[in-house]
Amino acid sequence: MKKTIKDYDLSGKKVIIRCDFNVPIENGSIKDESRLKASLKTIRYARKNNAKVILMSHLGRVKTEEDKQKYTLKPVAERLSVLLRKKVTFVNQTRGKELEEAISKMKNKDVLLIENTRFEDLDGKKESNNDKDLGKYWASLGDIFINDAFGTIHRSHASNLGIASNLPNGLGFLTKDEIKKLTKLTDKPKKPYTIILGGAKVSDKIGVISNLINRADYILIGGGMAFTFLKAAGFNIGSSICEKEKISYCREILDKYPDKLILPIDIITATEMKENVKTHERFINEIEEDEMGLDIGPKTLEVFKQYLDDCKTIFWNGPVGCFEIQEFENGTKKLLDIITNTKAYTVVGGGDTARAAVTFNYQDKISHVSTGGGASLAFLEGTKLPALNIIDEK
Ligand code: AMP
Repeated sequence: MKKTIKDYDLSGKKVIIRCDFNVPIENGSIKDESRLKASLKTIRYARKNNAKVILMSHLGRVKTEEDKQKYTLKPVAERLSVLLRKKVTFVNQTRGKELEEAISKMKNKDVLLIENTRFEDLDGKKESNNDKDLGKYWASLGDIFINDAFGTIHRSHASNLGIASNLPNGLGFLTKDEIKKLTKLTDKPKKPYTIILGGAKVSDKIGVISNLINRADYILIGGGMAFTFLKAAGFNIGSSICEKEKISYCREILDKYPDKLILPIDIITATEMKENVKTHERFINEIEEDEMGLDIGPKTLEVFKQYLDDCKTIFWNGPVGCFEIQEFENGTKKLLDIITNTKAYTVVGGGDTARAAVTFNYQDKISHVSTGGGASLAFLEGTKLPALNIIDEK
């Protein structure tokens, strides 16, 4: 069993907690603070036990100097101060004298947030490539490392794997809870077990299907990903999103698992992905050249419902349509309704799917809304989770 924050005497110690504060921010205002709220239990525990609490997180992808303004963690520090009812000192540096001095001045129960770890990516992707010196440097700022960023548990970054390699370490409450809830999907899940996959990031998810297919009875495919499969099955997909290099892989697994992979039979199409656009309900053999598929249709929902109704376990990653636009929200909304009306143990994973559950007010009816998208998929696949594996055993 992995060590957790509870296995350490935190009093007077500088405890680095790697959180997942990768929240949507528009013009300095946080649009969804669920990830901040999810981190509070571990932070409060550390404060209660007289630690000096040093928080770290990534935010977005930092590729240019200009991105720094967009992806500063300053609004997170401000919001956390309110949620914790305790001032969170923000240091707009990822290393250097100012940061070191601020840490040396910390008293027990103080909370400090270091600037976005991905600022280090501007100089040779030091964070994302787990630069050894950077991991060592960050570790030198603390006494104990706690990983509470479940969303990056499948990554080898300096701020998770790097620091953990250089300090006594353990899991935070959020990560521990995620593992407990997701283990129900991997350790003798109750059957029938169906996985729903959707979303736009086709490549990350297509690759995991062959691993997931052996664990689940069915995989229902919606969202942008469905179109690479439909193309592979010989349909004209118009201008829908498609990953050409994956077509032959899709053809192969469709041939291998014709009864396990369930594709849409009808689609909501439009010529543009925007509000107030004219939409059409098309069977998959009727998609016109200038149209793109942006949601699953009502007949597909009927088919999906048949696979879900008597399920005992359901996992869902990736919205089945562009739910952010009213014209294409129906599939995702109805599917939330379908899964929450079953008796199944239901887990929804990934930022967008979790957001859809919150937007349509189903979050309280789902057994577990995971904070990790790619991380929950990697966990289900049983692939290596470097930032988890490095955590000390009890
Ligand atoms: P992901 O991060 O891969 O889970 O993708 C989530 C995004 O996929 C959401 O913002 C949806 O709007 C988008 N999406 C869902 N269905 C489609 C589709 N058919 N075509 C393009 N994007 C889609």
